Amino acid sequence: MENAPSSSQPGKLWLVGAGPGDPDLLTLRAARLLASADLVVHDGLVGDGVLALIPPHVARISVAKQRSRHTMKQDAINALLVRETLSGKQVVRLKGGDPFIFGRGGEELDAAREAGVACEVVPGITAAAGCAAQAGLPLTHREDASAVSFVAGQCKDLSDQDWSGLAGHGRTLVIYMGLATASAIADKLIADGVSPDLPVAVVERGTTKDARVLRTLLTDLGDLVIRERVASPALIIVGKVAARADALDCLGTPALAHVAKEISCDF
Ligand code: SAH
Repeated sequence: MENAPSSSQPGKLWLVGAGPGDPDLLTLRAARLLASADLVVHDGLVGDGVLALIPPHVARISVAKQRSRHTMKQDAINALLVRETLSGKQVVRLKGGDPFIFGRGGEELDAAREAGVACEVVPGITAAAGCAAQAGLPLTHREDASAVSFVAGQCKDLSDQDWSGLAGHGRTLVIYMGLATASAIADKLIADGVSPDLPVAVVERGTTKDARVLRTLLTDLGDLVIRERVASPALIIVGKVAARADALDCLGTPALAHVAKEISCDF
C-alpha cells in the first residue's frame, strides 16, 4: 500500500501516529513510510528514537509547538503539507501518539480534502494507552471501571468544558495537556461531586526510559505536580484504577497519607 518516492507519482500525504515515545511502539506501517518518504514534517512530541529512524536522505521539517507559543500556526502547517504534497512528494506528517487524539489531525485531513490532496491516516498508540501500559494500570477493569474518557485539560476553554459524570464511580478519566491546570482540574472535578479521595496517577514521559509514575489522591493533584516538578509531557489518570498502577505513592501531608491508607484497604 505504501509508495516508493518517485517524481512521476502524484504526491500523497500520510498523517502518521508516532506513538508515545518509545520507537518500538511505532507501527510497522509507520516505520515503512518513514523509510520511503520524500519529506517528514514532525512535531516536538515525536521522540528522538523515532526521528532516528528517518533515513538521512529524507528531508525533514520540525513544526514543534509549545504551550501558548506556536512555532508555526496550524494554518501555516496545513498550507505547507498541501503545497509539498501537490508538488509530487510523498509527505509524512508525523505526530506524537495518534493523529486523531488531540493531534489536530482532523484539521490537516480537512485541509488535504479541501485541496484535493490524497491523504491516508496511520493510527498510533495514544499516550493514554502507552502510559497506562507503562504503569501497569488497566484503564478499564471489571471491578473498577467500565468507561474511560479522554479529555484535554489545557488552560484555554477549561472552564467551559463539561466533564460532569466523566470521573467517579466505575469511570476512568484521562487528562491530556493538564499539567499547567492540574490544580484547577482537581477543583473542577471535586466541585462536580467527584470524591477528593479518588486515586490519581500522573505519568511523565510515559513509555520512555525516563518515565515516572506518581500516585496521589485527587485533592493533592495540584500540589503533587508542583512538589515533584512534573514536566511535560505528562498524563493525568483519575479513577479507582489508578490505585492499581506500579507507582510511587506521593501523598503530600501526613493527614492525607492517613486517608490514603484507609482507602487502599478498599482495593
Ligand atoms: N496525539 C497525542 C496527544 C497530543 S496532546 C496522543 O495521541 O498521545 C499532547 C499531550 O499528550 C501531552 O501534553 C501529554 O498530556 C500527552 N502525552 C503525549 N505523550 C506522552 C508521554 N510519552 N507521556 C505522558 N504524556 C504524554
